[in-house]
Amino acid sequence: ATSFKGRRVAVFGLGGSGLATVRSLVAGGAEVTAFDDSEASVAKAKAEGLPTGDLREAKFAAFDSLVLAPGVPLTHPKPHWTVEKAKAAGVEIIGDIEIFCRERRAIAPGADFVAITGTNGKSTTTALVAHVLREAGRDVQMGGNIGVAILDLEPPSGTRVHVVECSSYQIDLAPTLDPTVGMMLNLSEDHLERHGTMENYAAIKERLVARSGTAVVGRDDEFSVAMAARLKSDGVKVVEISEADPIDLSAARALRGAHNAQNANAALATCRALGLTDSEVLKGFASFPGLAHRMEEIPTKDGVVWINDSKATNVDSAEKALASFEKVFWILGGKPKTGGIEALVPFFPRVERAYLIGEAAEAFAKTLAGHDVPWAILGTVERAVEAAAADAVAALDGTPVVLFSPACASFDQFRNFEERGEAFRKAVLALGS
Ligand code: ADP
Repeated sequence: ATSFKGRRVAVFGLGGSGLATVRSLVAGGAEVTAFDDSEASVAKAKAEGLPTGDLREAKFAAFDSLVLAPGVPLTHPKPHWTVEKAKAAGVEIIGDIEIFCRERRAIAPGADFVAITGTNGKSTTTALVAHVLREAGRDVQMGGNIGVAILDLEPPSGTRVHVVECSSYQIDLAPTLDPTVGMMLNLSEDHLERHGTMENYAAIKERLVARSGTAVVGRDDEFSVAMAARLKSDGVKVVEISEADPIDLSAARALRGAHNAQNANAALATCRALGLTDSEVLKGFASFPGLAHRMEEIPTKDGVVWINDSKATNVDSAEKALASFEKVFWILGGKPKTGGIEALVPFFPRVERAYLIGEAAEAFAKTLAGHDVPWAILGTVERAVEAAAADAVAALDGTPVVLFSPACASFDQFRNFEERGEAFRKAVLALGS
């Protein structure tokens, strides 16, 4: 990033995006010092030939900017201490998205740039917008909070469009975020441990759209509605979208469920603002493969629809999944969250039978039994898949759906939801052999 040439920049947090930041700043001629409180991370950066520093000896007043990696919690003792020192010395505190924004203004000011946030649906919508633009022949760079770190992408240019997912942490560190199209999908209570109050959380999200050429804002929750009203009164061009807006998704197999209608309507508004025709957009929707582990269909030849929704680590997500089907063979369980599956009771009439795994099995069995849902405790994903397969194949008169939407964290049996989803996929694909 050449816009930091000659400036003294400290980078804290040397994960993937931190390292990308250091490389990009070094290449652009900045005087960079890279820090981390893990010695292994510092050693790794050093081995790559990157300029590292010792936190204990860091003189933060000597820097122009402190760049924080998005994963660094501001309340963590050491970064907190670093941030406080830097703040006291008048050093600006920013993140990699801010660096990208300055670079874009410096080298390709009109270049198309879509920034996407919201409490839920960010990754899906980011991938969807990128896919549709690519299918329509645009030169697309996608990254940020999804996949590739923003400073590892190809730089902005007049013919290129960047599609960037932004978490609230990243927006918080990007004071001059000015996308061509900014999208704020929805707001609900989440991440309040970092942002304190809902007002504060909403104010951070609002910064993504406040300076955008076109602001695409959801109107399915009160916080977003209030935000759109404020933006309009500030003269921002706002397009409001809803789950309820008519849109034909019958050809889009990866966009099942009402929540995806919200995502698709937001993607449609965004692509229109970038000059695509509706038919180009609908064509892109139809070929969208979806994201792994989010209502992902595993292709099989057994006549059963197998859905991997391992990303559903809480009841809100599992609710979206259950609401998308009429008759479900439901595999669930794992490390339960507070409240269990009580909140899903209204969706129990859709459940043919439940297959329970992990720590939550016994407690969930009680809830299910209390509402006359047939259940079985299987323990593992593999055994649950086998049991569900037998029942689903026997029910082949309709189109049986086996849904793996655990409504639980994965940590009792897996490293993360990705590993859990892969275990499900493997078990399903092994059925035929
Ligand atoms: P994020 O990147 O914001 O975490 P994802 O696109 O990865 O969101 O989707 C995660 C889960 O959130 C999905 O599996 C689905 O259950 C739910 N979800 C997706 N889109 C929406 C939406 N627009 N509103 C509410 N929930 C959604």
